[in-house]
Amino acid sequence: MRYYVLDRGDQLSVELSEQFHKLAAENGFKMDAESPEIVISIGGDGTMLHAFHTFIDRIPSIAFVGIHTGHLGFYADWKANEIPELIQLMVGHKTPEQPRPRIVNYPLIDIQVQKKSGTSSYICVNEFTLKGVDGTVVAQVDINDQQFEMFRGDGICISTPAGSTAYNKSLGGAIIHPSIEALQITEIASINNRVFRTAGSPLVLPKHHHCDIYSRKDQRLLLTIDHINHPVDDLISVRCQVAKQKVSFIRYRPFPFWNRVRNAFLG
Ligand code: NAP
Repeated sequence: MRYYVLDRGDQLSVELSEQFHKLAAENGFKMDAESPEIVISIGGDGTMLHAFHTFIDRIPSIAFVGIHTGHLGFYADWKANEIPELIQLMVGHKTPEQPRPRIVNYPLIDIQVQKKSGTSSYICVNEFTLKGVDGTVVAQVDINDQQFEMFRGDGICISTPAGSTAYNKSLGGAIIHPSIEALQITEIASINNRVFRTAGSPLVLPKHHHCDIYSRKDQRLLLTIDHINHPVDDLISVRCQVAKQKVSFIRYRPFPFWNRVRNAFLG
C-alpha cells in the first residue's frame, strides 16, 4: 500500500505521524509523496483541507483518512490512541467478522474565475466565498443563465454538502447530507430594504444547475477556496457548479454523518 501522512505540525500530531510511519513500515506499507493510494491527515478538519489541496490534482485516485488530535471532526474520525487498530484494519481482512472497508464519495464544487487578467479553475471541498475588501460587494447572481438577483452585502458563500457544517452553518445555511449532489448558496450579511432585494434564504442547486456571480462595480474582492485566499481586483465573473469529480474517504468502520453532526454540535 502506498501512503502519505500530512500532520498539523503540533507536537502530538507530529508524534502520531512518527508512530504511523513506524507501524506502517512494520506492515510493509510504502511512503509515497507523489502517488499515494491513501492519504492520512493527522490534526483536525483544517488539516484535511490542506491534505486535499496538496493532492488536488490526484483527487480521483486517492482515498483519505483523518485522525484527529483535537475534537472529533467531520473529516477526522479516528482518535489519537487508535492508530494500531487503524493500521490493522488497513493491513487487511484477518477474520471474516472484520468488516470490509467502504469508500464514500463526497461531492465537490468546481469554480471558474474569469478576470480581466485571465481565467482560473479551482475545486472546493468545503466552500467558495466572495467577500468585499473595501466595503459592500455589488454582484449580480444568475442561476442557469437567467438573472436571479442583484446582491449587495458582505459576500456570498457557495458550499458543498461536506462544507455545509462549516462556514455555511455559521451563515444559517442548511446541513446537507454529503450523498446529495448539490451546492448551497448562502448570503453573508445581505442588504435588504425596499430598494435592494435578495432571496434572503439559502438556495440549494442540484448538480445539473449552475450559478454565475458577476462583479457589478470596480471593487477589491477576496475569493476564498476553503482555507486559501485569493485577492482579486479585476473580477468579471465566477461560475459555480457541482464538480464532475468527487473526493473519496475510506471508512474502516461506520461513523454515520448524522452521528458526526450530533457529536459536533449537540455533544
Ligand atoms: P480555521 O479558521 O482555523 O478553522 C475553522 C474551523 O472550521 C475549525 O474549527 C475547523 O475544524 C472547522 N471545519 C473545517 N471544515 C469543517 C467542516 N467541513 N465541517 C465542520 N467544521 C469544519 O480555518 P481552517 O482550519 O483553515 O479551515 C478553513 C475553513 O474554515 C473554511 O473552509 C471555512 O469552512 C471555515 N470558516 C468558518 C468560518 C465561520 O464559521 N464563521 C469563517 C471562516 C472560515 P478543526 O478545528 O477540526 O480543524
